[in-house]
Amino acid sequence: MTTATTGAIDCDMHPAVPGMHALLPYLDDHWREQVSLRGIGGMDPSSFPPTIPANSRPDWRPTKDKPGTDLAMLRAQALDAFATRYAICNCLYAVQAAYNADFAAGLCRAVNDWIAGEWLDRESRLRASIVVPLQDPALAVEEIERRAGDARFVQVLLPAGCEMPLGRRFYWPIYAAAERYRLPVAIHAGSTFRHATTSNGWPSYYLEDYVVQSHAAQAQLLSLVAEGVFTKFPGLTVVLSETGFTWLPQFLWRATKTWRAMRSEIPWVDRAPADIIRDHVRFTLQPADAPPDAPALQQAVEQIGSDRVLLFSTDYPHWHFDGVQAVPEGLSADLVRKMLIDNPLETYPRLKETVQ
Ligand code: ZN
Repeated sequence: MTTATTGAIDCDMHPAVPGMHALLPYLDDHWREQVSLRGIGGMDPSSFPPTIPANSRPDWRPTKDKPGTDLAMLRAQALDAFATRYAICNCLYAVQAAYNADFAAGLCRAVNDWIAGEWLDRESRLRASIVVPLQDPALAVEEIERRAGDARFVQVLLPAGCEMPLGRRFYWPIYAAAERYRLPVAIHAGSTFRHATTSNGWPSYYLEDYVVQSHAAQAQLLSLVAEGVFTKFPGLTVVLSETGFTWLPQFLWRATKTWRAMRSEIPWVDRAPADIIRDHVRFTLQPADAPPDAPALQQAVEQIGSDRVLLFSTDYPHWHFDGVQAVPEGLSADLVRKMLIDNPLETYPRLKETVQ
């Protein structure tokens, strides 16, 4: 049985930049000239090449261009098909992989203006995340401030794999700006490719790279807690996107148990990590790494210990074999309603203001 998603808020979907040519009108003169002179062709993430099967269901793949580049298809297949009220666009164009922070900042401006001009202006159900140059937090804050006046931008988007753990104070100006403008920070599967995606070096296969994205998310989550980010920024919400959630119970148990023994080294963490995470961190649904039977999924969700942490998502147009059955079997009707509507509204203050 397919669970109805009418009126839901889709917290992770992926309109794709067709190529650098699409950004040229949105780049400033200097970077437009540099892209042309240097022959810079594109920034597609090597962790998610457009042609791999997982990047799109076959019936969601357009006859030309990349999956996620056609607004009419996105309307029909992601918005109308799931009857979603709003959907948040997370544009993955690997701009954080550039080593030149000024170039990255120019690209981020172009991506954010492109998504506003080509998607948000043309479809009122769409919202978006602000893409920021993680290479330089001061430039990232500039970009947040430049776009924060537009209420259609509802969060800040970061990749799971970075130059250093995201809890480090180097990144705190980004969290201060996000908290100031009531923007959750999404940490999405992806990487700046400064480090291997596994903790034991570079893997050989895409399958390995994708599966261990959840390990990167766990490491970032623990870094945010241990470094005291949520103590310093009590109004901050972090959303882990496309990195799973069924691993969460074991992670909470392990983090909390170890904290009990080692809490003296991080006195600013004055509550159990499990409690901090339940209060400040949310997880998007798809792809749902669900166990094979509904009772097992129900048990896993109960072990998380909160019905507020899951956010509905389709991950359109990515393909992880869930089809139109985006909500897995085994979740209670009450939890499904919260996941589809209540939890996203609580997570995204800018969306809540829109619907009131
Ligand atoms: Zn995603």
